[in-house]
Amino acid sequence: MDKFVISSGHAKIVRGASGYIDEVDEARKVVSKVADYLKELDCTVDTFHDNTSKTQRDNINKIVKYHNSKSRDLDVSVHFNAGTKEIGGTEVLYYSDGNKVLAEKVSKAISEALGIKDRGAKKRTDLGFLKGTAKPAILIEVCFVDTKTNADAYKKNFNNCCKAIAETLSGEKLKEAVKPVEKKSVIHKVQVGAFSDEKNAANLAAELKKKGYSVNIVKG
Ligand SMILES: [Zn+2]
Repeated sequence: MDKFVISSGHAKIVRGASGYIDEVDEARKVVSKVADYLKELDCTVDTFHDNTSKTQRDNINKIVKYHNSKSRDLDVSVHFNAGTKEIGGTEVLYYSDGNKVLAEKVSKAISEALGIKDRGAKKRTDLGFLKGTAKPAILIEVCFVDTKTNADAYKKNFNNCCKAIAETLSGEKLKEAVKPVEKKSVIHKVQVGAFSDEKNAANLAAELKKKGYSVNIVKG
């Protein structure tokens, strides 16, 4: 697959779940980062965020309409889960059985990138997005906003998580990430004496050399 439409769940006004992190804010970040990575992999991507709907019904309709107006192989909706007091984890929801394997793969890849539980693929035939979109579709529940370990893991591994999604959807591997710029090394100098007479400096240097130290005389 190389043509995708990806949208964030809910809307700017009709908000989603909120806990240690906010679903709508984070879903938007994930959508845009995944789109960047997919483009790096030469995929065609359209993204959508609903900034205007005032009701849930309008919101679902608007998202579905956008997806269905584009040419694509797969529709993807990005959400975050809420409501568990347990360990949370990643889930990917699908509508038709043909998309079960992809949903499983995406769920596994995200859970591994985040180091959280893989809750796996879940068939859902009652969700507006999955019902309304005409192409194969999955709905990603990245992690739980109200499980602290999930929110922390997500914040720490955001890029990895988005890479994992892009690589799994496209079936291609991104080039190795650019290594972070090396920190400048700091040299710690040890000074043992300061002499105005060069001879005295030379004598101390000789003594230290005898003891096996490497010595530099620096004039300054
Ligand atoms: Zn949601």
